[in-house]
Amino acid sequence: MSFEYAPAPESRAVVSIKPKYGHFIGGKFVAGSKHFPTINPATEEVLSQVALAGKAEVDAAVKAARKAYTATWSKMSGKERGKYLYRIARIMQERAREFAVLETLDNGKPIRESRDTDIPLAAAHFFYHAGWADKLEYAGLGTSPKPLGVAGQIIPWNFPLLMLAWKVAPALAAGNTVVLKPAESTPLTALLFAEVCQQAELPAGVVNILTGDGSTGALIVNHPGIDKIAFTGSTEVGKIIARAVAPTKKSVTLELGGKAANIVFDDAPIDETVEGIVNGIFFNQGHVCCAGSRLLLQENVAEEVLHKLKSRMEKIRVGDPMDKNTDVGAINSKEQLGKIIELAAAGDAEGAERWSPACELPGKGFWFAPTIFTGVTQAHRIAREEIFGPVLSVLTFRTPQEAIEKANNTPFGLSAGIWSEKGSRTLWASQQLRAGVIWANTFNKFDPTSPFGGYKESGWGREGGRHGLSAYLKGVSHE
Ligand code: NDP
Repeated sequence: MSFEYAPAPESRAVVSIKPKYGHFIGGKFVAGSKHFPTINPATEEVLSQVALAGKAEVDAAVKAARKAYTATWSKMSGKERGKYLYRIARIMQERAREFAVLETLDNGKPIRESRDTDIPLAAAHFFYHAGWADKLEYAGLGTSPKPLGVAGQIIPWNFPLLMLAWKVAPALAAGNTVVLKPAESTPLTALLFAEVCQQAELPAGVVNILTGDGSTGALIVNHPGIDKIAFTGSTEVGKIIARAVAPTKKSVTLELGGKAANIVFDDAPIDETVEGIVNGIFFNQGHVCCAGSRLLLQENVAEEVLHKLKSRMEKIRVGDPMDKNTDVGAINSKEQLGKIIELAAAGDAEGAERWSPACELPGKGFWFAPTIFTGVTQAHRIAREEIFGPVLSVLTFRTPQEAIEKANNTPFGLSAGIWSEKGSRTLWASQQLRAGVIWANTFNKFDPTSPFGGYKESGWGREGGRHGLSAYLKGVSHE
């Protein structure tokens, strides 16, 4: 049975978007010289004009961060730093609705996800790291852990505020100051976060936010006044950054792409598994580095799982991200939509079979229907390359060993999922899988206490938990 839902639109009255933004440097908003538009990908409406930082702005931000590091932040006790982090976390909670609406407008993700996942988790990262700020000596990371200095942080567009929190919270807890650049297509929640820093009376220069494009990111990476680079984004740009910092003394953490295997064994609880498959690939329009984008089905249950998956997909609601009933929102940009269309076309051309439920897509904005490809082989591009969209590639296997070989047959190693009712099989499989995060009978679950990161081309280092903290301290192993 399926129910008709009346629209339940969230109000945008709670946010006030300025027509033009500058950069946040040394605790103040300073006017930018050049600007570019940021749009709502669900409607193509221009939301605001955002400044593009060049060399002068990057120099000014690094200088402000250095001054704050030397004069204030590195001298402050952990207990005092923790108070600021708690204050930021509480203000984020108080302004959660504003953050959620702004994130959805700028990113295109459903309000249900920004409201229930992105914003609460971002606040949780600040709460968690606030607790560490005065306990670093007891973290098992050396008797007198010291910060690195000024961290340059570059984040992507898929979880704009959450990625900011993953980067800023541990850096500040460990005593570093930061220069952060949000993605070109989703700068607005980072700019609202700058207002939160002012509201929390964070000392000037501890957090600096520069908006811009890839050229701004490159200026931050190559700036001699930066001690650490933390990057989340594509493997391609991650490699450029690795090459740029190799001859320097900069520390680096890279969270890059993925092509996770979500493995369904024949003893899996099928109905729960189908929910997990849907959550694994259609959550956040599949714009998730750890998305379960390769579904590996044991042959004897493949037909049943696919039948149930298709009937579940028929109930997915695609459309207005501001509607509280929406499951799948807009694709974040025209460029990303182009990439998804191109890779899906490669799937057709290479002989895989495409299926999508009947769904009416809005006329304006960037949209792609939830899609699965069956008959996929390991050689297909859609089995090897990160699509970063709502597209699932389905492969099959006969024996557990074959599942492991197929799962590990990828240049990535960020995450994996195992569906089985047998604990021994789950433990065995998780030991064989070469992935940084392995979920068992669930998928896409995140927690600030749990380290996250990848093997191989999925990146270097971990974020979250004690491991993530260590990446912002001197002389501590980053793995
Ligand atoms: P990028 O890796 O280009 O962007 C990530 C961040 O890096 C953005 O802030 C970007 O700025 C910045 N950047 C771009 N070029 C440079 C550079 N040379 N030096 C320093 N910083 C730079 O990802 P895209 O947004 O272009 O997405 C491309 C593909 O990457 C996607 O299709 C997807 O497959 C993958 N991706 C993976 C993510 C993940 O979490 N694993 C996240 C995002 C994308 P700007 O936004 O202004 O270009």
